[in-house]
Amino acid sequence: MNVLRTKDEIGRYRKQLRQEDSSLGLVPTMGALHKGHLELVRRACRENDSVLVTIFVNPTQFNNSQDLLKYPKTLESDLDKLRDLDCAISVFAPEVSEMYGASPNASTYDFGNLERVMEGVYRPGHFNGVATIVEVLLRLILPDRVYFGEKDYQQLQIVRQMVQQKGIPVTIVPCPIVREADGLAMSSRNTLLTNRLRNEAGFLYKLLGEVKKKFGTKNANEIAEFVREALTAHPDFKLEYFSIADAETLQPVGIVDTTKKYRAFIAAYLGEVRLIDNLPLN
Ligand code: AMP
Repeated sequence: MNVLRTKDEIGRYRKQLRQEDSSLGLVPTMGALHKGHLELVRRACRENDSVLVTIFVNPTQFNNSQDLLKYPKTLESDLDKLRDLDCAISVFAPEVSEMYGASPNASTYDFGNLERVMEGVYRPGHFNGVATIVEVLLRLILPDRVYFGEKDYQQLQIVRQMVQQKGIPVTIVPCPIVREADGLAMSSRNTLLTNRLRNEAGFLYKLLGEVKKKFGTKNANEIAEFVREALTAHPDFKLEYFSIADAETLQPVGIVDTTKKYRAFIAAYLGEVRLIDNLPLN
């Protein structure tokens, strides 16, 4: 497998693809790859001649230094998983200094109301960090398509806005959430759960299923109260936020407009591990 480490190597790789007139799909990740990531890669493989997977734990998007320290790093097994896919994949796994120089700093963006809700409130600075690294990667790699999971739905909307604001010519391909058998959305952080807590984790998805059933018969406040009570009654979960929001603007629903799409969004701690999930409601 072709593992690139520097921006110069990316420049040469890109030039080569251009000479071959090959289309390029980019899948940005922070590694510790699981089946959710691999679905993005498989899709990119179907839709492009070449695929570049980036594996980079981006320090500027961590608003919590402990979270950054604990973040799983498994490069060798990640490469094995990618080798097992039957596809022309290259990997870009740079050092932090290669991407940021001596001091990792995020640029500042204005995402308006998109960043004034949910993750934007509970993880201050997070989206500036995300947008910074995604912008750098897109400008460096110049892919035809870039793949993002709906697992991080707000991130997807933020990236869409950034790409539009900056006029970056790329097609953004959203990919559905891949789940474990019990419904838990796959995430690199799930490996940090103890066995006992892992067995509890499917509760969050079950709750979103209940929310979906109630949507349309009860109003958003009643549903939010139901979610709060269910999580308060659970000994291991601590709710951070729950929102039923417009799937495009991410603003909380008022009166339901049947011509619009809505999603339920949730963030909760299970023990020490922060889980996020979301589900389309209509
Ligand atoms: P991460 O490594 O967590 O930054 O994720 C890299 C990409 O994979 C992001 O676009 C995520 O939204 C996506 N992703 C992570 N987990 C899942 C999942 N369970 N299903 C679909 N996409 C996912």
